[in-house]
Amino acid sequence: MAAETSPLDDAGVALAPASFASVIVDIPARALSEPFAYAIPSSLADDMAVGCTVLVAFGHRPALGYVVALADTLAALPGTESLEASRVRPIDAVLAPPSCSDLFGPISFWMSREYVAPLAECVRLFLPPGGTPRLLKGEDGSYRLERAATPEVHERVVSLTPAAADFEPSARATRQRQLIEALSYGPVTTRELNLLYTDMSAAVRALERKGVVRVDERRAWRGCDEDTTLSSARASAPRQLTAGQRAALDAIGRALDDNAGDVILVDGVTGSGKTEVYLAAIERVLAQGKSACVLVPEISLTAQTVGRFRSRFGASVAVFHSRLSAGERLDQWDMVRSGAARVVVGARSALFCPLSNLGLIVIDEEHEQSYKQGSSPRYHAREVAAQMTRVGGFPLVLGTATPSAESLSRCRAGEYLGQRWSRVEMPERPGHATLPTIIVADLRREFSSGARSIFSRPLHDALMEVVERREKAVLLHNRRGFAPFLMCRECGCVPTCKHCSTALTYHERTHTLECHTCGAVYHVRPYPAPGSACPKCGSRYLAKMGMGTQQIEDALLAMLPDDVAVIRMDADSTRGKDAHKRLLEEFDAADCAVLLGTQMIAKGLDFPEVTLVGVVLADYALKMPDFRAQERAYDLLEQVAGRAGRGKDPGRVIIQTYLPDDPVIRAVAAHDRSIFTEHDAVQRLDACYPPYVRLTNVLVRGARADRVQAYIGALARRVGEGLDASCAALPESERPQILGPTACVIERAKDRFRHHFIIKTPLGFDVSSIVSRALSDIGSQQGISVSVDVDAYDLM
Ligand code: ADP
Ligand code: ZN
Ligand code: ZN
Repeated sequence: MAAETSPLDDAGVALAPASFASVIVDIPARALSEPFAYAIPSSLADDMAVGCTVLVAFGHRPALGYVVALADTLAALPGTESLEASRVRPIDAVLAPPSCSDLFGPISFWMSREYVAPLAECVRLFLPPGGTPRLLKGEDGSYRLERAATPEVHERVVSLTPAAADFEPSARATRQRQLIEALSYGPVTTRELNLLYTDMSAAVRALERKGVVRVDERRAWRGCDEDTTLSSARASAPRQLTAGQRAALDAIGRALDDNAGDVILVDGVTGSGKTEVYLAAIERVLAQGKSACVLVPEISLTAQTVGRFRSRFGASVAVFHSRLSAGERLDQWDMVRSGAARVVVGARSALFCPLSNLGLIVIDEEHEQSYKQGSSPRYHAREVAAQMTRVGGFPLVLGTATPSAESLSRCRAGEYLGQRWSRVEMPERPGHATLPTIIVADLRREFSSGARSIFSRPLHDALMEVVERREKAVLLHNRRGFAPFLMCRECGCVPTCKHCSTALTYHERTHTLECHTCGAVYHVRPYPAPGSACPKCGSRYLAKMGMGTQQIEDALLAMLPDDVAVIRMDADSTRGKDAHKRLLEEFDAADCAVLLGTQMIAKGLDFPEVTLVGVVLADYALKMPDFRAQERAYDLLEQVAGRAGRGKDPGRVIIQTYLPDDPVIRAVAAHDRSIFTEHDAVQRLDACYPPYVRLTNVLVRGARADRVQAYIGALARRVGEGLDASCAALPESERPQILGPTACVIERAKDRFRHHFIIKTPLGFDVSSIVSRALSDIGSQQGISVSVDVDAYDLM
């Protein structure tokens, strides 16, 4: 801890009972990784609390700060040994009362250290939504906090008074009669009344005068009214839990009693009823007066998922996802802060919402990579949640049908970094629903027998049977890493972006090549359009490679009878606010339909009438230059296969592939995860990859390649020295290693050169502080930016 150096005596202020505060100054610089000590003037004593936003002087300028600790004496604040009380400056003003989760202090410190991120950046995660708070100077010279400016909205609620029991409206007053009838089931807002019965206001006023009804104004929480007609969006408690569900709940119950911050991995096949386990566990937590936080991948934060939680916990569920408007987001946040919501369902950032007395965190689909944030602080929600439960002593529940290699190995060891990890299996689906039959369609054989269609014979025939029986099918078109592109048929060149080293994606409907790194758009047409030319050799023969979802849609429409609904779900068709939900409702309501989509359809959907799942081509997912590519491919296939046969009719899955012998395909086909995990574990162990080691990616970018190389060279040497100094005692085989520095796979993006090095360290080794020290030793340099990614997933 440091102090600002203006003598307190000069300021001449009287100190408050709790005289000193530890304050995180809101200046996002890596060097500011510690809080600063400030004195609390007695005039501010009443408003002072941990979590307050305050105004402080920092150097010669005013700054925002957040109070993380209070103490009577300076010495009682950590890290102040060498400070004199007389040199500590006073806090100038309290700008906002506490509004954060109780965990914000310890967790933001931990994140800042663990992820080598500026402390202020980590603290900001915990602040109310609506942008970074700023200081504004008023005309009188005083400072105030600029807040996100969305006004609160209020609604008027009409309810019956006790006098209503004895009131009999006159025979002609039909409106009043209707109103009393409507209110007899409970209070109703004026907005709803006016929707149900056009204009009730006169009747409301008349009865209010008579003292029969009362009208109260209250805060309305925007973002709560997402309704859906999806039948599966309800979750009444089942009459009987399965054996797996009981085992999972027992384990969670024990962890709740132990208060030791245990991690429970609920390893349940798709459709085994994991959501029901979460719901029942949350009921228990709520009954103890505590709150719960449920993380779901953004992609499956659908009306269906949210509906299940709302149907069980009603109005006390707040939701955070990226489709909320600014006002809705703020209202949901306030709803949590006010205590009106005790359950939060949201994407990874929901971890930071102001829940008090948190008693449980659930992470659904824990293997999903979207839990890793791609920008600073580059945290992984699973690791942050584990730290939260370690600090708070409550359980973390991870649910998935395809556990990550990290979670599996921690459960096998029984612990990780001092925290207990255990696994409960749920191998069966409730009732009569059985796991689907998997058929692998070998496209090599199809191809050699002359078939050229998108659909192999087995998939074609199965689709036709679905149509005949008026059932439903889901078709996955996995485009990850394989968007359509143009290739020169003479020189093999693939057009890349002028500013980046990325291959351009071809968009058929607009005849454009688009760069997904920087957004640049180039107009071009493939052969045989006149005017198309290879950027390298000038050849006219630019051929389109790869397949768009639209092309498959066209093939389906041509193949299927007119009365079969074909619903396409991809980035283009789900752009609008409710588009995703509308398409699913359309699929739900249809009598016979095919839902065709990218990986966004693989998650969480629960439609009992789906009897067929087809995977148009599984192979793109397998052949990515990334050691996690196979794990991702396995997850995707297993998830999408899990959409079949959730009802009474058995399901069938047809996987089209050129690589039928790949362990991923064999594992899915045999319903035997170990075929894949054992193969994968051996590969990763041999190559020394996570989960057996940790990878930290240090990336340096800049407009001039020579400067980037010089800087990263110096940085890597410094890190290397730090590693050598701290691991002298380790045996050779466990020593950390630096790979690189070298140019990244994506060598240039947005006109900036990219170089990186990767640090491999044993588990539990504190790589963060070594990188952090090296960075401050080397110092920053104009025009050069550095990002540090601890436990990196993206190494390109
Ligand atoms: P998962 O998340 O494991 O894929 P879900 O939670 O979506 O599975 O459950 C699949 C279906 O099984 C849902 O329709 C759910 O309502 C139903 N279900 C869950 N538990 C039970 C039970 N104990 N008895 C009957 N049906 C159940
Ligand atoms: Zn060419
Ligand atoms: Zn570009």
